[in-house]
Amino acid sequence: MSMFEDKKSKNTSISELGEFGLIDHITKTFKSKNTSTIKAVGDDAAVVKIKSDKLQLISTDMLIEGVHFDLSYVPLKHLGYKAVSVNISDICAMNSKANQITVSIAISNRFPVEAVEELYSGIQLACEKYNIDLIGGDTTSSTSGLIISVTVIGEAKAEKISYRSGAKVNDLVVVTGDLGAAYLGLQILKREKDIFLSNPGVQPDLGGNDYSLQRQLKPEARVNLVEVLDLLDIVPNSMIDVSDGLTSEILHLSKCSDVGITIYEDKIPIDHTTMNLAKELNLNPIFCALNGGEDYELLFTISQEHYEKLKKDVDFTIIGHVTDKSEGNNFITKDLSSHPITAQGWDPIKNNV
Ligand code: ADP
Ligand code: MG
Repeated sequence: MSMFEDKKSKNTSISELGEFGLIDHITKTFKSKNTSTIKAVGDDAAVVKIKSDKLQLISTDMLIEGVHFDLSYVPLKHLGYKAVSVNISDICAMNSKANQITVSIAISNRFPVEAVEELYSGIQLACEKYNIDLIGGDTTSSTSGLIISVTVIGEAKAEKISYRSGAKVNDLVVVTGDLGAAYLGLQILKREKDIFLSNPGVQPDLGGNDYSLQRQLKPEARVNLVEVLDLLDIVPNSMIDVSDGLTSEILHLSKCSDVGITIYEDKIPIDHTTMNLAKELNLNPIFCALNGGEDYELLFTISQEHYEKLKKDVDFTIIGHVTDKSEGNNFITKDLSSHPITAQGWDPIKNNV
């Protein structure tokens, strides 16, 4: 049961269309936009043209109902959009451009055709927004929940690709946008779900939290900022996207690059609405920004020579620097005390901030 259920909507059983009818129904409105897409949906395999001066990037993510999403508070259209944008974010995190996706779904018969349509309307919206072609997938049945697997194909010149492993001592550590909002959006949705479950007559009260809800339900891949980096002639020495939380990604970069990373509390970018909402929910905003996850911002390191090019752009915040491995990973709080960043994440409550 969903908090957002539209009681008036039609319910067409998937068996009325059959598997092939369903595939045709959900894919027929997708039109390819990229010249590299030679054959999309409709044959035994998709055909994609590879430019000889570029490398191809491939990434897959699987989303499972009850593990990665909860349909009682995630509208299917948003889920479709998010499934695509988080995959594109992985290609952005390599400083590369995404061109095609395949989408595979496993659905139980509790989903009517209209639910699959909703899911695909979100997938299509993301394809339009990011100029991506849907070139294939697979459709199968599931005995329980909904499973979505998206594979994305991208491209980049070899010298433009940023790996997790390239951070160098004295690099600046940069993060895009702001952090913590998506986590707070999730807390709001969970709160409303609990209220709804104890009193299904009550309509969810999501008012006034548009930003954090949008960050949770409809995250955007930072494609535009990868383009900005290209225009500024910056290739990050290392890069990752913030899916699990800033501290977790800092640990990935430092481990893969065999360096240490120091970041500063007073530099962490947090939107003022995130600040206010965290206080309202009795949460520490720094905790949300460090450990929250699902912000899908980009975290990267650059050589100091690029400092002037980025310092005035509000989309990029320098939050720290890369050190020798022996210094470890550290979080410097406002009182200038240093706290090691651990795999458990960094807890400002435990650390008395
Ligand atoms: P096959 O039997 O060869 O696996 P399918 O009948 O599964 O072929 O798929 C037919 C076409 O539809 C293929 O191009 C496939 O990539 C595409 N397709 C199947 N399911 C989906 C889906 N859920 N989303 C997008 N394309 C799909
Ligand atoms: Mg198939």
